[in-house]
Amino acid sequence: MNVSYNFREELCIDHTPGAGAIVIFGASGDLTKRKLLPAIFSLFKRGLLSPKVAVVGVARTAMTHEEFRQEVQTSILGTQEPTAEEAAFIERFSYVAGQYTEASTYVALRDELERVAEAHCTGGNALFYLAMPPELFEPIVRELHGAQLLEEVGSWSRVIIEKPFGHDLESAIALDAALKQYITEEQTYRIDHYLGKETVQNILMLRFANAIFEPLWNRKYIERVEITVAEELGVEKRAGYYDGAGALRDMVQNHMIQVLSLIAMEPPASFNADDYRDEIAKLISSIRGLHRQNLSDISVRGQYVESTTEDRPAVEYRKEENVPPTSMTETYVALKLFIDNWRWRDVPFYLRTGKRLPKKSSEIAITFKPIPHSIFKPFHAKDFNQNVLVLRMQPNEGMGLSLEVKSPGSKLSVNTLEMNFSYSDSMALSDIPDAYERLILDGLLGDQTLFVRNDAVEKSWRLFKPLLEAWARNDEETPLCFYPAFSEGPTEAEELLEGGSWRWREI
Ligand code: NDP
Repeated sequence: MNVSYNFREELCIDHTPGAGAIVIFGASGDLTKRKLLPAIFSLFKRGLLSPKVAVVGVARTAMTHEEFRQEVQTSILGTQEPTAEEAAFIERFSYVAGQYTEASTYVALRDELERVAEAHCTGGNALFYLAMPPELFEPIVRELHGAQLLEEVGSWSRVIIEKPFGHDLESAIALDAALKQYITEEQTYRIDHYLGKETVQNILMLRFANAIFEPLWNRKYIERVEITVAEELGVEKRAGYYDGAGALRDMVQNHMIQVLSLIAMEPPASFNADDYRDEIAKLISSIRGLHRQNLSDISVRGQYVESTTEDRPAVEYRKEENVPPTSMTETYVALKLFIDNWRWRDVPFYLRTGKRLPKKSSEIAITFKPIPHSIFKPFHAKDFNQNVLVLRMQPNEGMGLSLEVKSPGSKLSVNTLEMNFSYSDSMALSDIPDAYERLILDGLLGDQTLFVRNDAVEKSWRLFKPLLEAWARNDEETPLCFYPAFSEGPTEAEELLEGGSWRWREI
């Protein structure tokens, strides 16, 4: 498709943060290596980091500054030799080894932060990134507070915490209360990396920077919305965490509810953190409550079993490494949700996510209502396909719109035209920043807009509480259904769509 894209310099706002230290707890871990170090390096390469930024890693693993710098270099450059400029940047990394619950670690960290404040003029500002298992969030924040590293006198201190924010409503409330003893909401940055994705942010631009969609964006014109996050991978090496969590906690309660909110929210008064997050919280509050009586009509949970195709073998979930052979954990979930407000009343929002589905694919499909009447006799209104707007988050980020068109010729012939646009067709997609890059930048800037506020976390847990409890009890109304690995999911999920009269989009 021929698409042109005009970059308008005058409508581009690029903020560069000022001085500060980024302190990574869990600096020896997987997230640090795979995501955080490359994101920081990329910010540096784009010229988006002040020369007054330093990075301090903290973990128990014994490492010297030099050994840590070597790790950093390997994560960001592999075997490639750094340029002189890159080598100078890597010199700004340093390391503190110690136990997370021992005061001596924080004395050493304070000394190191004083050193980098002098050496790199960080101004005493600090962004603490807790890339740690969640049980360590509270102890670390408590120790940081004890070492007076969270005080904001002439400088700022912010704490980024990683998901999961609790395991259920009660633990989320307890975690928040525990953290609030030491930090304010304004210092708390709860990361949901989905919100840092360019394609997710573009939902807002699509809705609120174009006049053609918003008039149609309601129950009068939209029949249903389908949000899919499909993964081809199984549980891989994460069984320890995943078997205790499951698909609803891992994907739906956080990422998918945020995406649903962006699709369905009212226009915020402005794109600032409070206005925007007020609307998200309001939207989550409007989702119709789940009750024991309606769970079987609105939810399906599934678990993958052995693949049935010879060319794509896969073992069943219960035989994966570190998964108990009687596990009842869902690797798939499908839901039918309603939003009880003036805009969306009675429009179903279908959500589904799962592991070991046919391919990795995330998209939002908005199906418009059928035409009310056909003037093209003998065709009836029901003979025409409904328009579908698809927002693809991955792969092949972009959007598509299906339209009914006349085929050329003297005959009356209707056909469906699929207009497909990929960001890569027109924009330099290879240059799209990773979600972590955007979120670390916003953390340094003090912009909380794309971080999740505590009320949204709690409202979402509250919404799913009855379902999680029914699953934990193994209620017979909410049975675990099984699906072969690499299939489209359990057949029971078909029933969610108007008793099977609609079909899920093929993954
Ligand atoms: P890791 O399991 O790699 O842990 C990070 C570091 O924490 C380890 O290097 C280790 O460092 C320390 N650590 C681990 N377990 C313990 C323990 N029981 N007690 C004390 N220290 C421990 O975690 P990840 O890097 O994978 O993830 C960090 C956070 O980010 C988690 O909250 C996770 O949910 C979240 N996350 C991770 C993603 C990923 O892709 N990895 C994706 C999205 C979120 P040392 O032994 O040196 O102290």
